[in-house]
Amino acid sequence: MDAFEEFSLELKAIFPELSEGQMEKFKALEPLYRDWNSKINVISRKDIDFLYPHHILHSLAIAGYLKDRRRDEYDLLAGKKVLDLGTGGGFPGIPLAIMFPDTHFMLCDSVGKKTLVAGEVSSALGLENTTIVNGRAESLSEKFDYVVSRAVASLQDFYPWVKGKFSTRILYLKGGDVVEEIATLMGRYNLKKGSVSTWRICDWVPEGEKGYYDGKLLIDIQSPSLGK
Ligand code: SAH
Repeated sequence: MDAFEEFSLELKAIFPELSEGQMEKFKALEPLYRDWNSKINVISRKDIDFLYPHHILHSLAIAGYLKDRRRDEYDLLAGKKVLDLGTGGGFPGIPLAIMFPDTHFMLCDSVGKKTLVAGEVSSALGLENTTIVNGRAESLSEKFDYVVSRAVASLQDFYPWVKGKFSTRILYLKGGDVVEEIATLMGRYNLKKGSVSTWRICDWVPEGEKGYYDGKLLIDIQSPSLGK
């Protein structure tokens, strides 16, 4: 079994609602990223062989979390606007844009070479629900429903870039010891008790991937305006 076949079986088990068209797009990601990554480094060279289990599955953990823990919001994602801050070559934004074709994704990164890759991959797939922006997140004037992100900055550095620009929640993929970061974030921005929570990705991934995901978390930061 090749890497995609194995991944596609796992993915179908988690998201049986995925169409053939969506699966074809996931399949197309591997040759596209291999080609682009050889010209512009967006994934470490040794990790490109693990594109599906490490990068695409990781990105889709955001979909898994919404489906498992925020089912009401998952069912209402159509028409919503999502910002992927610091998308690099398109993670988590591209896999999520395939997953949620009726949701709009703005993929933003301050490094032009990286947004070039995200844009080329998006066009090659024919994605109609993405906008690629080369610039710093703090200069965006749009408003979003969600912010998603992977491995961009500490929570306390990241938060002010999007403060006031999202109505529902930030879903941030991060590893390491986040207890102190969360305490700093909550204190500095006076966030309500219970508005920040963590979800262990290793509990969600298929058996064979649990080791890699050990210690990797999804951090959910609710917008202060939610429910007001
Ligand atoms: N999310 C991608 C890339 C992570 S590297 C992935 O997981 O593969 C972090 C990226 O964040 C870099 O590409 C960097 O250029 C971008 N970045 C950092 N601060 C930013 C800001 N304020 N606005 C936009 N992009 C930013």
